[in-house]
Amino acid sequence: MTNAELFARACDVIPGGVNSPVRAFGAVGGTPYFVTRAEGPYVWDVEGRRYIDLVQSYGAIIAGHAHPRIVDAVRRAAGDGTSYGAPTEREVQLAEAIRERVPSCDKVRMVASGTEATMSAIRLARGFTGRSRVVKFAGNYHGHGDALLAESGSGVAQLGRAAGGAQLDVDEAGTSPGSAGVPASAVADTTIVAYNQVPHLDDSVACVIVEPVAANMGLVAPAAGFLDGLRSACDQVGALLILDEVITGFRVAWGGAQGHYGVRPDLTCFGKVIGGGLNVGAFGGRADVMDHLAPLGPVYQAGTLSGNPLATAAGLAALDLLDPDAYDTLGGRAGRLACALQGQFDAAGLVARATVVGSLVGVYFGDHHPVDYADARRTDEAAYAAFFHAMLQRGVALAPGAYEIAFPGLAHDDAVLDTVVEVAGEAAAVAAAVAGSRSSP
Ligand SMILES: *Cc1c(COP(=O)(O)O)cnc(C)c1O
Repeated sequence: MTNAELFARACDVIPGGVNSPVRAFGAVGGTPYFVTRAEGPYVWDVEGRRYIDLVQSYGAIIAGHAHPRIVDAVRRAAGDGTSYGAPTEREVQLAEAIRERVPSCDKVRMVASGTEATMSAIRLARGFTGRSRVVKFAGNYHGHGDALLAESGSGVAQLGRAAGGAQLDVDEAGTSPGSAGVPASAVADTTIVAYNQVPHLDDSVACVIVEPVAANMGLVAPAAGFLDGLRSACDQVGALLILDEVITGFRVAWGGAQGHYGVRPDLTCFGKVIGGGLNVGAFGGRADVMDHLAPLGPVYQAGTLSGNPLATAAGLAALDLLDPDAYDTLGGRAGRLACALQGQFDAAGLVARATVVGSLVGVYFGDHHPVDYADARRTDEAAYAAFFHAMLQRGVALAPGAYEIAFPGLAHDDAVLDTVVEVAGEAAAVAAAVAGSRSSP
C-alpha cells in the first residue's frame, strides 16, 4: 500500500483525509505520509520509509516515540481497565506532580485536550471575575474553541487559502472569528492585540491569555519585560493572567516558561507533554480561583474521560523521565541544532533564521527577527514548502506548515541531529533557489 493510495481512501471517508487540518499537507503541497509505527526519534510510513521525526506529535512527545517506560505504564494501566467514571490515585499523583514543578498551580483539574484546558480556563476566569472580555494576542494559538480561534496562527493561518477564501463574520469591533461557523457574537468579547506589546486594559477584562513563548507563528520569544508587564497590567484592573503552557509546559524548563521567565500567572493551561502522547489537558492555578469550579463553585466544567487512567499513567511516566538534568540536555542540543542550521542557511545563501528557546526550534524564512504576528506572516511560505519537501525526501520530517516549529527531544541524540544538519544543508540550497527565483523579477 502506498501513501497516495491510503490518502485517496482516507479522502473518501474522512474530510480532507485527516483528523486535524495541518496534517493534510495543504500548506506545502503533496501527499501526507501515513505512519505505521514510531520509535525514539524515528517514524516509519506505510511504504517502509524511515524519517527522523521533528514533529513529535506537535510537541506531545518529548522522550522519543514509544519510550519503553511510557509504553509499559500504559500497558499496565490498560490491563486494569480503561475508564471508570470514578476518581483514581493517579489523578492525584499527576496533579501533585504538576504542582511540584509549577508552584503557581495550587490546584489542578485534568481535561482531555489543550483546547478544553483553555476553554475551561476562560470560563473560569469569566465566572470568577464576573467580567466577559478576553484579551488574546494575534498569532497565539489556544486550541479551536470559538472565542479563541481569531488570528490564531498555526493551521488557521492557512485556512483562508485552503478554503478558497472563507467568508467570515466580523463583529462590530472588527474582530474576525478565524473560522466559518463561528458567529461574530462568539468573538464579540474577544479583543486581539499585538504580541510583545503590553496592552492597555480596563475593568471589563476578565483575563489576558498568552503563549509565554509564541510557538504557533513560528517561534517568537517574549520580549524583555513583556510577561512582567502583562502581570502588572492585569493586577492594575483585577484581570486574571492565563499562561497557555500547552507547548511550553514541562518542555522549555522544569517549571515551564513561567519558571524560566519568573512570572506567576493566576491560571495555567497544559496539554501535550503531560499526556505522554495520550489525550490530555489540564488547567491549574490559584486555589481561590480554582475553587470556583463545580462541585465547589458555580463554574461548570466536566468530562467523561477527564483524568483517564491510561492518560494519567502515560503523563506520570513522561514527567518521571524529565528530571532537571533532562532540560539541560534538551536545551544544549536544541541550541547546537539551531546554530548549525543557521550555519547551513548562511552557507547556502538562504535568507532564513533559526531561532531557539529552551528546546523549541523555529525557522523563519526572511531577513529579520519577528516579534509579532505581522512579522511572522512575512515568512516566505513557498521557501518553507521547498525546504520541507527537500528535507522529507532526504528522510527528515518537519511539520507541514510554515508556522509550526521543530521539537527535538530526548531521543534526538547528537548523531541524529548531525544527520538533520547535513540534510538541511542540501535542503537549504533547494529553498534558496526558490526564495531567490521569487524575489528577483
Ligand atoms: C496545541 C495547542 C493547544 C491545543 O491543544 P489540543 O490538545 O490540540 O487541543 C492550545 N494551546 C497551545 C499553545 C497549543 O500549542
